[in-house]
Amino acid sequence: MCGITGVWNPTTADPTEAARLTFFALYALQHRGQESAGIAATDGSDLRIVRRMGLVGQVFSEPDLAVLGGRAAIGHTRYSTTGSSRIQNAQPMVVSAAGLGELAIGHNGNCINARDLRDELARGGARFATSSDTEVVAQMVACESGATWDERLIRALPKLNGAWSLVILTPSALYAVRDPLGVRPLSLGRKGETWIVASETCALETVGAAFVRDVAPGEVLRIDDRGAVPIADFAADRRGMCVFEHVYLASVASDLGGVSVYAARERMGETLADEHPAIADVVIPVPDSAIPAAVGYARRSGIPFREGLIKNRYIGRTFIQPSPELRRQGVALKYNALADVLDGKRVVVVDDSIVRGSTSGPIVELLRGHGAREVHMRICSPPIRHQCFFGVDMARRDELIASRLEVEAIRRHIGADTLGYLSLGGMVAATGGTEAELCTACFTGDYLVPVQLELGKDSLEAEQVNA
Ligand code: AMP
Repeated sequence: MCGITGVWNPTTADPTEAARLTFFALYALQHRGQESAGIAATDGSDLRIVRRMGLVGQVFSEPDLAVLGGRAAIGHTRYSTTGSSRIQNAQPMVVSAAGLGELAIGHNGNCINARDLRDELARGGARFATSSDTEVVAQMVACESGATWDERLIRALPKLNGAWSLVILTPSALYAVRDPLGVRPLSLGRKGETWIVASETCALETVGAAFVRDVAPGEVLRIDDRGAVPIADFAADRRGMCVFEHVYLASVASDLGGVSVYAARERMGETLADEHPAIADVVIPVPDSAIPAAVGYARRSGIPFREGLIKNRYIGRTFIQPSPELRRQGVALKYNALADVLDGKRVVVVDDSIVRGSTSGPIVELLRGHGAREVHMRICSPPIRHQCFFGVDMARRDELIASRLEVEAIRRHIGADTLGYLSLGGMVAATGGTEAELCTACFTGDYLVPVQLELGKDSLEAEQVNA
């Protein structure tokens, strides 16, 4: 995951405006990453950066915006996929290039040939300070030949494989880039004279910007006082937007490729009700991501929708480790169950996905503990059997419960009376797309780019060179 955003503000009336809009856009993208956040800004001559570990609202304060004064800024909120969770790997990252000065970069996705590219760059003398694939991307651009950043970007970017939506800032331009398949989203918006790019449309709305269009797969968009101009197009011959964005990652307040995520999840729930009906008294969601799917299931099945689980809205990363006893309670820290809704009832509980299989069992137990007579688990995506190499930190293949167990064995493992997964076709149709436009590799194993199956999150860790 990770959220990225960029702002180009040609009017200089308020020098903190670009950083302020970047901050609020990041706030709206917090669901895409909670480990660290950062903003890089330029006043046209140099780059300034503030990056810290933590949530967006905790990382920045008003005095930071004065430091980040200038007409353009990029921002990043991180959920690590390659590289561990520590401040050196926080973004944006800044690199310098001989003759051209500095460049800041924010990356959402995962560059799967980072290891080879890094070895090649290191042989040429490049030094690396982090274990992140993003630094490799930045160095690829910085070390490329070319008299301008435009030239270096156009030469370097086609060498990257995998998923990479990027925001790039130099003192004279903002760039917005998507990989040839368009795996991760990136949208362009406008607020008055100001251009804004963001991972999701919900961030455009938050800052009062109008949606202009999605950055196209394979497009390199340069934004400066002359406007937003495509300078390169290296789209693949097919598209490959990550279907899991629709299932779980993206905010329900966003549109992906012009399709409302909320509506897509409602349709997933409706189809789930057709494919896996149940005789029950209530339909409840596992909040928050499965709420629209449960609404859809209830509407199609005619079974009343109720809230039976209440999620603690303030739960997040805590530095206080739960005691072994609290850890055993697991989901009880995250959810309260409502006996009023559940007692004596046959319950359909809808969740978006089962990954390792560690959440569903305790949820079934929690529901039964509050009086549920029967528990029918419904999942609005197919079994996840394959690892994601394109920017979703799900789990290694051997940790995915559906890579080891068939559906009936998973049902027994989680203790539900019945278990039903949405079909691949049902999920894809709900997104309004076709399989040929989506990446469904975590469900099918059909990777759109050849992958090294042993590649892990820490694949660049051992080779780290401290600059
Ligand atoms: P698990 O317990 O590993 O089966 O995780 C399933 C739960 O985690 C579901 O309730 C999902 O909403 C949620 N989930 C799915 N994918 C992710 C992800 N990449 N990161 C964090 N949570 C996730």
